[in-house]
Amino acid sequence: MLCPNCGHTESKVIDSRSAKDGSTIKRRRECLSCGTRFTTFERREDLPVMVQKRSGRIEPFDRSKLLRSLVTATVKRNIPLATLQELVDTIENDIRYKYRDPVPSQELGNEVLIRLAKLDKVAYIRFASVYKDFQNLDEFNAELQNLSASDSSTEDIES
Ligand SMILES: [Zn+2]
Repeated sequence: MLCPNCGHTESKVIDSRSAKDGSTIKRRRECLSCGTRFTTFERREDLPVMVQKRSGRIEPFDRSKLLRSLVTATVKRNIPLATLQELVDTIENDIRYKYRDPVPSQELGNEVLIRLAKLDKVAYIRFASVYKDFQNLDEFNAELQNLSASDSSTEDIES
């Protein structure tokens, strides 16, 4: 498990607690490199990760649905399907360990956005426009300008 502070891969477990039904083990960990303490929620690999929508409804994490929205967000961006499948694997693995059960859908959305921002700025904006619930076009444009300031790759966004 990566340290959220320095990215070091080794940590020691300070405390472990099992959920009553045995499905999740909550662990306090300390990074062996920088000493940062963080919590992981380790779920059984054979159980689905549950996600709670804003409406309150709880559903299993849907890999194919996420993959479809990533395909839509990366149309004409020349990103191989295998890259997107790896992205889905990484995200599923991360939400499995980083959040308590059920995982709020906003946290899932944020995990996707963090990774898309690194992969492709245009795809990030497309995805963000859906997931961040922009109230109006001004907010959307502000977000665009934010990104343009740090990276000029937004110039080739297609309308
Ligand atoms: Zn660390």
